[in-house]
Amino acid sequence: MVIAMDGPAGAGKSTVAKLVAAKLGFSYLDTGALYRSSALKAHRLGLALEDSPQLRRMMEEIVISFDGARVLLDGEDVSEAIRTPEISHLSSVISAIPVVREMLLPLQRRIGEKQGIVADGRDMCTVVFPDAINKFFIDASIEERARRRFLELSAKGIETTLEAVLEDVRVRDERDSSREAAPLRRADDAIYILTDGLNAGQVADMVLSMMKATRK
Ligand code: C5P
Repeated sequence: MVIAMDGPAGAGKSTVAKLVAAKLGFSYLDTGALYRSSALKAHRLGLALEDSPQLRRMMEEIVISFDGARVLLDGEDVSEAIRTPEISHLSSVISAIPVVREMLLPLQRRIGEKQGIVADGRDMCTVVFPDAINKFFIDASIEERARRRFLELSAKGIETTLEAVLEDVRVRDERDSSREAAPLRRADDAIYILTDGLNAGQVADMVLSMMKATRK
């Protein structure tokens, strides 16, 4: 049983997905963490973010796993290291490279086969879990998303400005939506939720009440 959630950066998908998962006793699958971890590894290795034999080899060898809410890259806890603005930017660049998406696809499907999950990302409804019964597209205006991201980063002690976050969100939106490989778009059968003015708990309640089935 997979509940698939897509949407742009900063729409609050991860908080909503975690709340819905907790409510249903499902696991939460953060697919953005897979792209972020790949970006972190490529960055550490000094690889250019383009299709190359070196990047392919890296993707063949990379081991990304989850331990509860922690993200492990080749066994190392990178939960914080993958959340910096620099890695946010690089993850958006690396995720447009088809070989990266191809190599991460089986991992996501395997996780979905094993257990009930709420999966969030950009292509959950369109590519990774096209047969999911419950599909949602979680959206918010760019101003609201930048404001939320800014508050999140500030709370973590990461220094930035609202203008810089707004620009980052705008650039990522543009890149995620215009790329050829699995661009961000709403699946025809995904329920659209505009979250401006709503908190995560309210959105999670909406998702739960709109779900078609919660049991296999
Ligand atoms: O969701 P999050 O902001 O953590 O994702 C980081 C980046 O990874 C996004 O900007 C997007 O480019 C990419 N991504 C993706 N497909 C997914 C999840 C994330 O392309 N399913």
